[in-house]
Amino acid sequence: MARTLYITHPSGRLHDPGSGHPECPQRLAAIDAALQNLDGLERVEDPPPAANEDLTRAHTRAHVDAIQAAQPGPGVRVAVDPDTRINQHSILAAHHAAGAAIEGVRRVLDDKAAHAFCAIRPPGHHAERDRAMGFCLFNNVAVAARWALDVHGLDRVAIADFDVHHGNGTEDIFRDDPRVLFCSSFQHPFYPDRPLSRREHLIHTPLAAGTDGRAFRTAIELDWLPALERFRPELILVSAGFDAHREDPLAGLNLVESDFEWVTRQLLAIANQSAAGQLVSVLEGGYDLAALSRSVRSHVRALMDFR
Ligand SMILES: [Zn+2]
Repeated sequence: MARTLYITHPSGRLHDPGSGHPECPQRLAAIDAALQNLDGLERVEDPPPAANEDLTRAHTRAHVDAIQAAQPGPGVRVAVDPDTRINQHSILAAHHAAGAAIEGVRRVLDDKAAHAFCAIRPPGHHAERDRAMGFCLFNNVAVAARWALDVHGLDRVAIADFDVHHGNGTEDIFRDDPRVLFCSSFQHPFYPDRPLSRREHLIHTPLAAGTDGRAFRTAIELDWLPALERFRPELILVSAGFDAHREDPLAGLNLVESDFEWVTRQLLAIANQSAAGQLVSVLEGGYDLAALSRSVRSHVRALMDFR
C-alpha cells in the first residue's frame, strides 16, 4: 500500500460562517469520522500556518493584508464577500489551511509519503489573486503549487479540479504561468460564471446540469488525460470538491462515490507515469454531510490502495 497522509488542523473546525451556512464546521467532523478506521492512514494534525510570504506567491500583498485586517472580535461575523463570512477564528484557520496544503507537498516531495489528503477549511479555489470569493479566503491549492515551483524548484505541476464549481481563482492565479497545467470540470452555466480564459495550459471541461458519471468519465478521458500525459507533471495537486455528487444540495450534477474513486485512480496513474506517484489532494466543496463522508472515504481509499 502507498503511504498516505491525512492532514488536518483543529482551527479548521473553529472557522464558522454562521448557522445555516452550507460550508459548516461539521463537514470536517463528518470527514474525520469517515476516515477513522482506515488502517494505515497516517494522521498529521499540526501543519504549520502558511506565512505571509507563502500566501503572496499566489495573492497580492494588498489581498493578504485586507483579509487579515478584516478579522472580527469574539462573537462577531463579518462578510468579506456576499457568500463569505468570517468569525474570530477564520484567519488562523485560513493560514493553517494553506499551510496544510504546503505541508502535504513538502512531505510528499521529501519522500515522507506518496500521497496526502488535506481536510481543510476554508476552501480555496474561488479565491483570486486579489479577491476572496465563494467561501474562500486564500487559494490553498495555488499557494501549494507555487511553493512546489518557487521554493522546491519543480518545473511542472498539474492541478486537477473536479469540484462542481469552476476553479476561477486558480485560473486567475495561473493564467499567465504555463508551469501549471490547470484542468477543471464544472457544471456550466453555473456559479461563479466568470469569463473563461483561452490558454493551452488551462483545460476547461464544462458539464451540463444533470451530467452523470458515464458522461463525466468520457469528458475526463477526452479533455484531461491526454493533456496531462503530454504535460508530464512532476507533481499532481487535486482540488477535491465533492459537490458534483447527486445528493449535494448546492448543484445539479449526478456523480456518485465510484466516480470520484475513478477520477482519483486516473490521476494516480498519470502521477505514476511522470511524477514518481506524487499526488496531494486538498478539500474544496461538498455540502451533503453523508455524501461528503462516503465520497472522501472512497477518494482516500483509492489514494491508499494505489500502487
Ligand atoms: Zn464547489
